[in-house]
Amino acid sequence: MAFLDKINDFAKTATEKTNNAIETTKLSAKIDSEQRTLNDIIRKIGEYYVARIDAGETLDEEVMAIYEGVLASRNKITEMRAEIESLKAPKAPAEDSGSKFCPYCGKELDVTAKFCLNCGKQQP
Ligand SMILES: [Zn+2]
Repeated sequence: MAFLDKINDFAKTATEKTNNAIETTKLSAKIDSEQRTLNDIIRKIGEYYVARIDAGETLDEEVMAIYEGVLASRNKITEMRAEIESLKAPKAPAEDSGSKFCPYCGKELDVTAKFCLNCGKQQP
């Protein structure tokens, strides 16, 4: 009978361990969710103060120092957006870049080239 009791105890312990693992996973997920809620609230507080400073208010020194980071970050975003716009803009046509094509082989050459770098023929 003692042997069966031991098996029962073992099974109970294994079930308990599994249940604890499930409970831990559930709680970890709840913590993650609550952390997101907390981050959201803190972000809203930040947005509230940023809006006030944007509107021209001067708040205490510590807040104003943090706000410098907001300005720096906004400037970076503006610069990178401008960079994207310049990448989207069509490239200047080839003739504007000061190049010509060899009439013998078609190789693109500098307008000042006297001989073709590819076929070696004198350029007209
Ligand atoms: Zn050529």
